[in-house]
Amino acid sequence: MTELLNYVGNTPIIKIENIFNPDRSGVYVKLEEFNPGGSIKSRPGVHMVLDAQEKKLLTKDKIILEPRGGNTGLGITIAAIALGYKVNLVIPDNFSKEKIKNLESYGAKIILSDHNTGPGSHVRLAREILNSDNNYISLDQFSNPANPLSHYLTTGPEIINQLKVRKVDAFVAGIGTGGTLMGVGRYLKGISSDTKVIGVQPSGCDFKNNIFIPYKIEAIAVGFIPPIVNFSLIDHMINVDFNEVMELRSWLSKNKGIFVGVSSGANILASLKEAKKYKKGKIIVTVAPDSGRSYIGYE
Ligand code: PMP
Repeated sequence: MTELLNYVGNTPIIKIENIFNPDRSGVYVKLEEFNPGGSIKSRPGVHMVLDAQEKKLLTKDKIILEPRGGNTGLGITIAAIALGYKVNLVIPDNFSKEKIKNLESYGAKIILSDHNTGPGSHVRLAREILNSDNNYISLDQFSNPANPLSHYLTTGPEIINQLKVRKVDAFVAGIGTGGTLMGVGRYLKGISSDTKVIGVQPSGCDFKNNIFIPYKIEAIAVGFIPPIVNFSLIDHMINVDFNEVMELRSWLSKNKGIFVGVSSGANILASLKEAKKYKKGKIIVTVAPDSGRSYIGYE
């Protein structure tokens, strides 16, 4: 593997005391902004590219095509470029110019879809291209088993090894593709069936009953239940309020120097709420998928 990709994973894990109730357990947060590319998505990025390479679906004459411009687009781009593959990303033409320039800087070619054709224009255009030209392949993170597997093989074991514990009492995370919650959840429950696996969703959503309301917490509750989500692994869901998430993010950066993204704020808020149920010393873990730097001016 190329040198940079050796530094995907092994991100720091820090403890935050329970600010809602100092007598109850604090929470451990894995800071995923420390990955190359600045987010948790480098983990599935690397594993999905290597998996496609191993299965000979990805060869040097093929181009990876993904309808993704955020963390996933960048995670896949970094892995693909470092391993010698080409990447095209399909993005709606009203996407931030700054984010497009950033992706181009890493060598991704950007194909713009017409956002006037309605939400999901990039997904439709990517499908058209994939159906009409077999030079392209998609890694399809929503159904690709290499996505949760990346967390089963890396994020989960890292938690146990870094905390030097025999088991975790609860693991908490939002669901975008479900890769993080399913992969880490399956690993930790495999170590101890007592471990609680808890999903996070914006207030008003009811993931299990397929209810999604348009909400501002980017990257979680994406509007459908991805095929890799297995509800039998999830013990319960915790709902979080957007304003409370933003208040907590502000408190964390101003008091602790921890400036995390919006879904990270949701994960930490939900974990602190869950931790109120646990005595001090119990192990409640979550992830902060990216940094607050990507959300400046986001309200
Ligand atoms: N938060 C952020 C910032 C993300 O980029 C993602 C993944 N796109 C998630 C949460 C959700 O993670 P997963 O896809 O593993 O469910």
